Amino acid sequence: MSEESKVPVVRLNGVVKKFGPVVAVKGVDLEVFESQTMAIIGPSGSGKSTVIRTINALENHDEGEITVGGVTLDGSKSSIRKVRNEVGMVFQQFNLFPYMTVLNNITLAPRRNQGISRQEAEAHAMELLEKVGLNGFEARYPSELSGGQQQRVAIARGLATRPTVMLFDEPTSALDPEVVQDVLGVMKDLANDGVTMIVVTHELTFAAQVADSIVFMDGGLVVERGAGASLLRNPQHERTIRFLSSLKSSHFD
Ligand code: ADP
Ligand code: MG
Repeated sequence: MSEESKVPVVRLNGVVKKFGPVVAVKGVDLEVFESQTMAIIGPSGSGKSTVIRTINALENHDEGEITVGGVTLDGSKSSIRKVRNEVGMVFQQFNLFPYMTVLNNITLAPRRNQGISRQEAEAHAMELLEKVGLNGFEARYPSELSGGQQQRVAIARGLATRPTVMLFDEPTSALDPEVVQDVLGVMKDLANDGVTMIVVTHELTFAAQVADSIVFMDGGLVVERGAGASLLRNPQHERTIRFLSSLKSSHFD
């Protein structure tokens, strides 16, 4: 089947999001197809987090249309519930529940929101811990883990509901440099396994290796987009060129 005839897993059409007088997102169109990874790059304040947060209705968009797994977010509670069930999200700051073990962090949503039995949820959680390289960590509490380990638990938790798409908002920005590659490695494995992903990141090497498409945002707009790493290799817009060169030089700060 050709790309054009497929239905995207995630589609944004003319999405606008305002915070009072601030128009954070000014009309964004995106399409992500099954098993593809989209990377979103851009300077701070360009609207990347807001876009990704509208996709699972952590922010309600003001204009435009968002469809996830065939469900259109129309402001109704039922559409929000259905879409959240299709989406796994990983944040910069892990956001694990501190008073719960790793196992309970991972099994909470499937048990509470999907009616999965404890036995089945725990068996799946153990598989996911193996996948993220944390065999034997199930009884630990988040405070007993490094940042990189916490983020890998957060990825396992995101996968636990068997989502249609995984959203990552700068998943390695809060990590010590020496564990960044552990987390990126897990994400690379997921992409190779065919998990559909949207990743906000400043890790250009990762984006070049893993992304099927890369989107550059600035000022609440998609300025430029490209297939594979073409946007990184051959940026067309002056703002994209300036942003990429600022990132490259910041590696040597
Ligand atoms: P990025 O993730 O690219 O750094 P954001 O999506 O966080 O950008 O922010 C885009 C713009 O929206 C910024 O001007 C930011 O200050 C503003 N913004 C984001 N969240 C809020 C909020 N909850 N309330 C008010 N303004 C916000
Ligand atoms: Mg952000």
